[in-house]
Parts: sequence; C-alpha cells; structure tokens
Amino acid sequence: YKIATLKRANDQHAINNVKNIIAISSGKGGVGKSSTAVNLALALQKQGAKVGILDADIYGPSIPTMLGTEKQQPLTPDNKHMTPIMAHGLASNSIGYLVDPDSAMVWRGPMASKALLQILQDTLWPELDYLVIDMPPGTGDIQLTLAQSIPVTAAIIVSTPQDIALIDAKKGMTMFNKVNIPTLGIIENMSYHICENCGHHEAIFGEGGAQRLAEQYQTKLLGQIPLHKILRQDLDTGQPTVISHPDSEFTQLYCQIAGRI
Ligand code: ADP
Ligand code: MG
Repeated sequence: YKIATLKRANDQHAINNVKNIIAISSGKGGVGKSSTAVNLALALQKQGAKVGILDADIYGPSIPTMLGTEKQQPLTPDNKHMTPIMAHGLASNSIGYLVDPDSAMVWRGPMASKALLQILQDTLWPELDYLVIDMPPGTGDIQLTLAQSIPVTAAIIVSTPQDIALIDAKKGMTMFNKVNIPTLGIIENMSYHICENCGHHEAIFGEGGAQRLAEQYQTKLLGQIPLHKILRQDLDTGQPTVISHPDSEFTQLYCQIAGRI
C-alpha cells in the first residue's frame, strides 16, 4: 500500500448507539488478543460502562467459546438486522454465531471485510459506551479495510514480551498511525508466569519488551497480565476470570487497565 492510499475512508458511518469503538489488535495470533478483549470488556463494564464486543476475527472466532455462547444464534427481527447475544452483561456478535464453527472460512480479503462491516452495521447494538472489537491478527487487507471504514476511537495493542511478537506489534501500531487512529497503549500479555506452588514470578518470553516498545512509539504500557492456568481455564469454560474470580489479582489487573482507558 502506498502511504497516500492509507487514509480513512470518507464514507465512514457512525455505528448506531455506539459512543466509542476500541479496536483490540495484535500483529501476531495466539498472543491473547481475544482473552484480553473479553476480560477488558468485562472490566470496563464493572466500572459502570455499557459495553459490547464484536468478534472480528473472521478466520478464528473465539469470542463465543470465551463467553460460553457457542450454541446461540442472533435473532433477526426483520430479516436484515441482528439482535446481539447477551452474555455476562455484554452484548456480543461474532461470525462464529452465524456459520458452522467446524467449517473453515475460505473467503478472500474483500469478502471477509464486507462480511465484517455488515455484522458491525447490521447488529442492533443497545446504547453502548464502548464497543470492543477483537480484531483479526496481522496487518493485512481485512485489518486495513476495517481500520479505514470503521470510525474507531482508539486502538489497543496486545503483545507478549517476545521479540517476534513485538516486531509484529510495531507493524500494528504503524498501521493505526497511518490511518490516524490513536493507539491508547500496549497490554503485555503472558508477561510473566506465576508458579502455582511457590508463587515465584518467572519471565518466560523475555522482559521489558513492551515497555521499551511503548517508549519508542510514545504510547503507554497499559498493563501486564501474567500467564496463568486460571485465566486459560476460565476462558475455555465460558466464564471469564473478571466474572468468575472477581476478587483475584487478575481481575484487579484488568480493572486497573480499564481505569486507564
Ligand atoms: P489470540 O486472540 O491473540 O489469538 P487468545 O486470546 O485466543 O489469543 O489466546 C490463545 C490461548 O492462550 C487461549 O487458549 C487462551 O486461553 C490462552 N491465554 C491467553 N492469555 C493467557 C494468559 N494470560 N494466561 C493463560 N492463558 C492465556
Ligand atoms: Mg483471537
């Protein structure tokens, strides 16, 4: 893409009822973007905000599993619009609700971006202070189209402290910079591992990387989330930690991050 083409589209439409759109993005897959999106959405809700979540990861939708809503399907009152699925107080929609979860999506970029825009625009979102978008990993066609056509308020980048994840996180920030979407900051996920027996903290993927990256890009390190079995188990069972372990240190960390948004 030439820089000149990387402007925000002129035909951006505000999404009905939605005040702020926060894109949760990562250069790399598997760094915990969806996990962070779900727990952060719930932490924002805990502060009294009305929150929705859109699963834009068209090739690997995981929000239905993480919210425990896999078997559900949005109703369409008029055969055009969709009523979002409510779970733990969050309004949600996902390509995962609409297609057979076991079938692979083989759409090319333009079709995938179109489908996503449609899901976003045709969902009857209730009044929301924040719509959190779990973006697909990477900085390809779909991500760029989304960033250009959706009136995103700000982006948050999720990375692990590992160099290869950080390199991809940089690309994500560069993409948002180019389309004039401000980056609120970086969340370092799997920042350290807490030993279940002795409580010792061990940096598995390296240390200080996200902090350095934040400084380099003049943005904030919004928080550091450890690698812990509870976080994984809670998401696998559709009971995210912020809901199922409200008094845990993990919930505290997500709430601190929500307070910085
Ligand atoms: P992405 O959306 O970036 O591809 P996911 O959020 O799906 O990544 O996370 C990948 C896997 O790692 C999931 O199975 C999730 O439960 C697990 N996971 C993510 N973050 C953590 C964490 N901080 N501690 C433990 N497991 C995690
Ligand atoms: Mg994901």
